[in-house]
Amino acid sequence: MDKNFQEEEFTEIIKFTPPLHKQRHQFVKDLVEKHKPKKVADLGCADCSLLRMLKFCSCIEVLAGLDICASVMKEKMHTLSPLPVDYLQPSERSLTVTLHHGSVAHKDPCMLGFDLVTCIELIEHLEESELKKFPEVVFGFMAPSIVVISTPNSEFNPLLSRVMLYRHPDHKFEWNQAQFQSWALETARCYDYSVEFTGVGHPPTGMEKVGFCTQIGVFVRKYAQTGASLQSEKPTEAVYKTVFKTVYPSLKDEKYLQNAVISEVIFTAQIIKHRFMSKREEYGDDPERKSKSQTSMDCFSEYLRKPVVEKNMEPFVSGNEVYIPLATIFSFPKVNRLCGTFEKLCKLISGKVTLSSDGSAVMFNIEHENEEN
Ligand code: SAH
Repeated sequence: MDKNFQEEEFTEIIKFTPPLHKQRHQFVKDLVEKHKPKKVADLGCADCSLLRMLKFCSCIEVLAGLDICASVMKEKMHTLSPLPVDYLQPSERSLTVTLHHGSVAHKDPCMLGFDLVTCIELIEHLEESELKKFPEVVFGFMAPSIVVISTPNSEFNPLLSRVMLYRHPDHKFEWNQAQFQSWALETARCYDYSVEFTGVGHPPTGMEKVGFCTQIGVFVRKYAQTGASLQSEKPTEAVYKTVFKTVYPSLKDEKYLQNAVISEVIFTAQIIKHRFMSKREEYGDDPERKSKSQTSMDCFSEYLRKPVVEKNMEPFVSGNEVYIPLATIFSFPKVNRLCGTFEKLCKLISGKVTLSSDGSAVMFNIEHENEEN
């Protein structure tokens, strides 16, 4: 038996594992992982379940959904909002998620500039007049580098239980493989795309001719499109209504980057200070013992994957203060990666972290620590 479905009474009930709708979404996710599009639009996004899955793909920076039914989109759109953890640990990439109310039969400039457009189980819901306009809107106007279209394969229907005419009462048609392929090939030819056919939901062994339960066409644009031609050459009035928009906290945003850098600098300085103070306590000022202490400090730093070697990078005590040089803190991989340059580190923490008078070291008062000890 095929691995992705179980059957009970061959022509009665075929249960796909995982369920077919999940296989369709997984197909899109795999395609995203492979091609790494930055901007993805899901047409006929319904309850936004595909968008919810795609927001975890780290290559995506812009996600948009479109549906003619605002209420179905609104039902679960709040689940696309950032979670508290997204604010606590902002991601390195930026992510904006927008939902629009409108029809794929109409052009709107907000749909320009996408790399991947997905139309999962959408076309069979379109009226004849809408289906006629659909290729010009998606392939002519939006013209992304990749379009994925999935639709039921009517040849599979006799293998499904309870399918009378169509799989869903709102379906306006269901095509067999030849019908879908001829429509897709003609569309691809008209708009200079190539198309490959595949699907999800394997037919039972011995019935391969029936084809996949869901047939899928993956269209790839043959010509290169320049960024400049996107907006300027396609003046169109906005007709869609934006019903939801959320911008995820990102380290690309200076405000979140600054918070992250300040926390990381204080955290790193505390670690260095703690280690330095305990070694100092252990070995006092004995030069021989101190050199052992330094070796140990190096090992500790090595553990954090960046040895502290330079003399002027060593922490030091003066009066009631301990000083942790910024150069040492900057040598730690996470601080280094967050800031990029030493100058940026100085700029981001300026006025936010207590520094030595020359600004070269983070300063901690250890008066009370001494008292405690
Ligand atoms: N893509 C979804 C389910 C699609 S069901 C998934 O993968 O689970 C089809 C959706 O297309 C419905 O939500 C319906 O409201 C929407 N739809 C139908 N006609 C449309 C049109 N002309 N423009 C945009 N969306 C449309």
